Amino acid sequence: MTAQTSGLHHVTAIGGAPQRNVDFYIRGLGLRLVKKTVNFDDPGTYHLYYGDEAGQPGSLMTFFPWTGVRPGRIGAGQSTTTAFSVPAGSLGWWSDHFAALGAASEITTRSSDEERLSLRDPDGLQLDLVASSTEDPRDPWDSASVPAQYAVRGQHSSVLTVRSPEGTVRLLTEDLGMHVVSETGNHIRVAAGDGRPGNIVDIIADPTAEDGLTAGGTVHHIAFRVPDGETQLLWREQLVDSGYDVTAVLDRQYFTSIYFREPGGVLFEIATDTPGFNIDEPLLELGRSLKLPPWLEPSREQIEHAVAPLALPEENNPSAD
Ligand code: ZN
Repeated sequence: MTAQTSGLHHVTAIGGAPQRNVDFYIRGLGLRLVKKTVNFDDPGTYHLYYGDEAGQPGSLMTFFPWTGVRPGRIGAGQSTTTAFSVPAGSLGWWSDHFAALGAASEITTRSSDEERLSLRDPDGLQLDLVASSTEDPRDPWDSASVPAQYAVRGQHSSVLTVRSPEGTVRLLTEDLGMHVVSETGNHIRVAAGDGRPGNIVDIIADPTAEDGLTAGGTVHHIAFRVPDGETQLLWREQLVDSGYDVTAVLDRQYFTSIYFREPGGVLFEIATDTPGFNIDEPLLELGRSLKLPPWLEPSREQIEHAVAPLALPEENNPSAD
């Protein structure tokens, strides 16, 4: 069996103050906080999950936010830009929207295929909004901050910066079943399946790039989709056979995960589509209360004491009382 991912599952980054992170991703980007939990590997800090209404794979952006985090450096061996898919013709609205919030943004690509608006989040994370000529049929989260006609449809792509691209391309194509779409100069575009937004990885080969430093304002890892745990185990075997040092399957409560470092240095995860975010709270309530996996429930009091309370904009749960 050759593994074949259906695209991006989520991107996880390191942020600064949690409240500022919540305010930017809910009010600025118009995403929904679909889970407020803690870093299972370091339960004294939050793990915040943003996405569409239900937090479907491919819509997810997640953060480990630390107040006073040391700033990182975006560079080689990292996912250096996280791109979200927005409707064609919406970038003018977005530019005005960010300006009103005091965030600088600029159009960085304008071609017949796609236009990009680039900006930094409050911690310096590089974000692009991509308006592509390829239709994105995914339903947006209809929030009070961003009208549905302009809203983010989900992930568009991740840009990986590597010194030398061969190993990265080989892994994505031979081990994850993606295919090369285009190669222009030092830019190689790889896609899964039909290559729609959410299924795309852009590789930038930059032999002189300085190494990235993973800390505040940088991406920690990107995750690819696998339908279920059974398939994940088969992929794990295949990746181990290909020589990758892959972790055991880890229970992330809303999905299960395996991690390994790709040849260009970027940390990759393979995450299951199941069980999803309504496993421990109903759709309307997503994000409202601190959720802990069963093995951390005994430490709830300690954990609630360690993480600062968050004020969640009401628009995150409009129909809840
Ligand atoms: Zn992850």
